[in-house]
Amino acid sequence: MEATRRRTQHSARGKTSEQGDQPAQWGRAWEVEWFSLISVISLLCFAPFIVFYFVMACHQYQCSITQPLFELSRGETTLLSIWARAPSFSWTAAKIYAIWVAFQVFLYMCVPDVIHKFIPAYVGGVQDGARTPAGLINKYEINGLQCWLITHALWFANAYYFYWFPPTIIFDYWIPLMWCANILGYSVSTFAFIKAYWFPTNSEDCKFTGNIFYNYMMGIEFNPRIGKWFDFKLFFNGRPGIVAWTLINLFYMAKQQELYGHITNSMILVNVLQAIYVLDFFWNETWYLKTIDICHDHFGWYLGWGDCVWLPYLYTLQGLYLVYHPVQLSNAHALAVLLLGLVGYYIFRSANYQRDLFRRTDGSCSIWGRKATYIDCSYRSADGGIHHSKLLTSGFWGVSRHFNYTGDLMISLAYCAACGFGHILPYFYIVYMTILLVHRCIRDEHRCSNKYGKDWKRYTDAVPYRLIPGVF
Ligand code: NDP
Repeated sequence: MEATRRRTQHSARGKTSEQGDQPAQWGRAWEVEWFSLISVISLLCFAPFIVFYFVMACHQYQCSITQPLFELSRGETTLLSIWARAPSFSWTAAKIYAIWVAFQVFLYMCVPDVIHKFIPAYVGGVQDGARTPAGLINKYEINGLQCWLITHALWFANAYYFYWFPPTIIFDYWIPLMWCANILGYSVSTFAFIKAYWFPTNSEDCKFTGNIFYNYMMGIEFNPRIGKWFDFKLFFNGRPGIVAWTLINLFYMAKQQELYGHITNSMILVNVLQAIYVLDFFWNETWYLKTIDICHDHFGWYLGWGDCVWLPYLYTLQGLYLVYHPVQLSNAHALAVLLLGLVGYYIFRSANYQRDLFRRTDGSCSIWGRKATYIDCSYRSADGGIHHSKLLTSGFWGVSRHFNYTGDLMISLAYCAACGFGHILPYFYIVYMTILLVHRCIRDEHRCSNKYGKDWKRYTDAVPYRLIPGVF
């Protein structure tokens, strides 16, 4: 594997781990309590049915998520009859899904990035990831923007010129495709689990908790790979996950056009706001190498199944809802949603940019017109090496410790508000993102506190709030 081992046994100030205060140990250090274990087993068994419930509610109950519960409680329907009415697995769906995944694997593996050669501001091609807990720095081929552009260009070429397949085909096979996505999600998670025991990519970066279910769900291997370049995290999150997001929205838009003869402004807003978010992700794919998914999370069911099923099915609920409810917003409502989404995006992007700039320049940069302020900190990797880092305390990072999440939550609320106020279902996303990001704050801070020890405490004293100053 193309990975460079960079170990720093001595700090920049010539201090070793034996001298002075011991820096904290980095890496996942979670003991599995009973509550976590029960949650893990419940999620492994029931998460696919949660996804099914939302999609089924649209399919059978016009997107009402309470109606099936009322009918079940009054004995007007049964789980079996709901199940019987839902389309089952089909080989046509399996073929569509296999072609889709194979095409994305082909683009990921066989089409090296050329965009960075024409657009100097774009960072693509072979890039370094962040240092892993074992002290490795992996190399990645960044070509997501190019793959996104090719995939979407082909969708438009098909819809307006070639007609190889109906531009609504995904919608027409939505539930059968969900079973295929589940098969892939569970298969890849199981494969990653077995691989971690039998042929790990880097055994020093494996983490076993002693609990098989927790290991399966949260992953053992840090950066599992096949061969030199097929990186599970980068591929599954980016391609069957995020490339699919905007593509699915296009299928929904086409379905709305087919059913009603026009496209509503709400559908356009959802498509545009989510496309900005997705394009931002691919434009900054190198930055993604430095986020929690890549830098801290191990690859298990949480990422594998989540990327294959949860992300494409539940992140696109607004578009699905608008197929069943073609909401036309007033100009004032549409403008308010657009503004909320754009301001949220501005905060999200600027906060992430500030941290990225700060880390790239090792603190020698100015933020909001002033020299960046920060806290110096040190940590120890699994090989015993001592490393130094800095935590930014100015700009958005001085407002709260995760103001980038606050921006993300504003964007998420904008997607939901674009669907009007007729049903709860499109608001699932903001509820989910709030839980996800609050939980992520807590997980991340637990990890950072383990990693930086007393330095982290100095940082939380300097920036006391997590998301909203004065509130949380
Ligand atoms: P962050 O990008 O906020 O990364 C957290 C890491 O940044 C920490 O572990 C720490 O890593 C470093 N860090 C923390 N504080 C500072 C500081 N003050 N100065 C410098 N570095 C700091 O978190 P995520 O990776 O979770 O999120 C990335 C983006 O993705 C966010 O904007 C989030 O909103 C978005 N996101 C979207 C999701 C979605 O489903 N739509 C899901 C999850 C995230 P280190 O060890 O390097 O110090």
